[in-house]
Amino acid sequence: MADHAFPKPSRNIVHRLLNLRNHFSVARLSDRVLLMGLGVVCVYWVFESILFWLTAEEGTFLGAFFNPGYNELLSRLLVLCFFMIFGSQVGHILRQRQALNEALAGSEEKHRTIIANIEDGYFEIDIYGKLTAFNDAFRNITGYAAEQLALQDYGRLLTPAETERVFGAFQNVRRTGRAIKDLGFVIVRHDGARRWVETSISPITSADGNLRGYRGILRDVTRRRQADALKQEKMAAEAASRSKSEFLANMSHEIRTPLNAIIGLVELLLASQLSQEQREDLKVVQSAAYALLSVINDILDFSKIEAGRLELERSPFNLRDFLGEALKILAVRAHEKRLELAYRVAPDVPDRLVGDHHRFRQVLLNLIGNAVKFTDAGEIVVFAQCESLADDRLVLHVAVRDTGAGIPTGKQVMIFEAFSQADGSTSRRYGGTGLGLAVSAQLVNLMGGRIWVKSTLGEGSVFHFTMAFDVDSSQPEDHHLPADIDLSRMQALVVDDNATNLKILCEMLSSWKITAKAATSAEEGRELIDQLRQQGETIDLALIDSDLDQEGALALIRHLHRQAGEGARITLMLTTTTAKTADRFQREGIANVVTKPVRPSDLLDAVIKALSEENMPMATWREIKSTDARTTLPPLDILVAEDTPFNQKYIRRLLDNWRCRTTVVANGRLAIEAWSHKRFDLILMDVQMPEMDGLSATARIRDLEREKGGGHIPIIAMTAHAMKGDRERCLDAGMDDYVPKPIASASLHKAIARLLPSMVGADPMRLPVADGGETALDDELAGLMAAFNNDGAFFKDVAGMFLSDYPPMLETLAQAIARQDGDLLRRTAHALKGMARNFQIEDAAATALQIEQMGGQGHIDAAAGLTQRLSDELARFEGRLKQMMARAPG
Ligand code: ADP
Repeated sequence: MADHAFPKPSRNIVHRLLNLRNHFSVARLSDRVLLMGLGVVCVYWVFESILFWLTAEEGTFLGAFFNPGYNELLSRLLVLCFFMIFGSQVGHILRQRQALNEALAGSEEKHRTIIANIEDGYFEIDIYGKLTAFNDAFRNITGYAAEQLALQDYGRLLTPAETERVFGAFQNVRRTGRAIKDLGFVIVRHDGARRWVETSISPITSADGNLRGYRGILRDVTRRRQADALKQEKMAAEAASRSKSEFLANMSHEIRTPLNAIIGLVELLLASQLSQEQREDLKVVQSAAYALLSVINDILDFSKIEAGRLELERSPFNLRDFLGEALKILAVRAHEKRLELAYRVAPDVPDRLVGDHHRFRQVLLNLIGNAVKFTDAGEIVVFAQCESLADDRLVLHVAVRDTGAGIPTGKQVMIFEAFSQADGSTSRRYGGTGLGLAVSAQLVNLMGGRIWVKSTLGEGSVFHFTMAFDVDSSQPEDHHLPADIDLSRMQALVVDDNATNLKILCEMLSSWKITAKAATSAEEGRELIDQLRQQGETIDLALIDSDLDQEGALALIRHLHRQAGEGARITLMLTTTTAKTADRFQREGIANVVTKPVRPSDLLDAVIKALSEENMPMATWREIKSTDARTTLPPLDILVAEDTPFNQKYIRRLLDNWRCRTTVVANGRLAIEAWSHKRFDLILMDVQMPEMDGLSATARIRDLEREKGGGHIPIIAMTAHAMKGDRERCLDAGMDDYVPKPIASASLHKAIARLLPSMVGADPMRLPVADGGETALDDELAGLMAAFNNDGAFFKDVAGMFLSDYPPMLETLAQAIARQDGDLLRRTAHALKGMARNFQIEDAAATALQIEQMGGQGHIDAAAGLTQRLSDELARFEGRLKQMMARAPG
């Protein structure tokens, strides 16, 4: 390669012109050979003619020329043919050579073009290491001008440290004759900068096989090398962080195990007989252990998430109840600070969701816990609404609003980072690790959402987060009232001094079409009652906040009893702190108590209660209540066939109150199945049901009875059809009686009494309830006294302890469920079981045993429903126990 740099593509045209000229010249040469052949033939022809004329005895030159003899003509033609064949053969060979030359020139041109245009550098060096050819890319990589590179020593591009290695590679190629690839080294550019390159080296040999030099392709790989180095650094850092997180995760786990043992044992000790002082000390130990546990849990979660070891679970849950239960866990703390705690779920949010509700609760409790911690007065309200809902995928938007200290604008992002708090002094005042929000942010992220805060210093904060859940649309939503329940004639009074709570309660009632009248104080409530009375309107249900100022609630209840007519049923809304002093309300004839924050299901229970006492005069009701309302029916076995959850709940409650044993099934087919397997005293049969309606089911039961040769189970129809002829249709189908929906307790009672007069007595309201109740209570007391060695004082002591100890233990159960702490659940349930057995409360003891077993087996979620049942059972016993304490001797 004479020029060191390669010719530019524009030179091609000249080349092609030259080729064209060559082509023509070759063509002429082959023609010339032909012409020459012809010329030689002509000369030969003349020469032969002269020779013939000189040697022949007669004839002339012209005669021999134009008119040769046969032999002469033949020899001349042979010479002509020979020359023509020779000429054309020479022309063919010349044309082939020309084509070969052209192909060679074309391929060389192609190579030149490729090499000149590739992004990688191309170089050739001779055996002395001098650069003999290179392309533009090579110049760019090395940073030299073409004239500087020409015949430059290749070694000048190398660093001293690598020169030997690189030339060693050239020697290798020389020795073995084999090319090498991807030789990596650093070159020093003209400007002194260093670049990482990789090159191939292959030998250039001459036609005789001798080595003439080397050629190679040089690639600049500096960027890739830098990226690789960064990646390696990152991987090393990640590995270090992962092992740190794994260590933290393991360590927190190790700490948690003994801590759980401490908490469980303290729990057990607290359930035993202790002096007041010991009890106080143990409670301090207990709260310190819980505080430590929550820090450890945060660290564990944080490190688990960091180490990528946290796995999300999927299980179904009911949003509204879930929120209510989660809030109740923190209600104690909030109410101790006299903070109002409430929640509102927008009506369009589906209730049955599927997702990791433990992690959801963790985020929620952390935000509400912070809100309680940083708020000294006012309220904390949790709002839940749809961010988006499509194809059974819900993105839920939850906001936790407080009226607390607020967070300065500059700190509102940083608080979501690990170990950061809004400010040092606040942290000293309130304590905390600064991990809660970091964990929450990571969990929210993991669950397909985001978290953010809006806050004004001194006014309060709103923490928002979103989370994605699946919607379980296979189950019907039961927070809506079924269509056949008409509550539009009900009127409710809601008295609460917290405006937000008032609004939420009224909204819930209105969503069930109940007319809700709101009052923000006892005085306002009293005015409203008077006003309604003057207008001749009744109040069916009164929801009264027990925390109204200055004995306001008590005065209002008394006023309501005096003024609002017989129909009003009062549900008292207690805070966890006023629950301890609920006794003073007992005497006032309260129909129901619920604790705040009030769940929709609590409110529905209150409505059911108000309905179930419907038409019963207040005086009678109070009389029954003061003895024992549950003895108004003998313990009948009743089968209820009803498909809507609301009605199932309502009827079960009604029958439970009458001490009946209730079996509920959801359709006619199941009713037949249940009836054929068990003996019942009575069937309550809904008329409209899926799969098999009440009329067909009754007809089938009657057929089966006939086939069996006798028997007749009383069946009472329940129907919302107020149409004329309904009663007849029911009776025709084989039913014995009929009660319209919504079911009034008195009419159901009457229907049962009519059908089972021998069992119930003619007038249900005149049953010897008081006697029956008193006798039952006396029997129970006698049994207990025997167990307590007839030592009345001992009985009262232990009973007093039971009354003060069991509510916090129920709270511990709830906390254990919230924290997924099976061990704590098992131990606490075990202690409760023992206490229940002491007082021979067999149903509660059986429930506690089930919870204990679930704790042991780790089925913690399933224990939530049972905990509620246990709480109900113990609450029911509490009333009886107090009466027994009053009657016990000593
Ligand atoms: P911790 O509460 O353990 O300190 P968090 O990560 O839960 O840790 O909270 C970090 C910081 O954010 C808190 O220390 C506090 O300064 C601030 N903060 C969180 N929630 C609130 C709130 N509701 N009101 C005011 N400040 C808050």
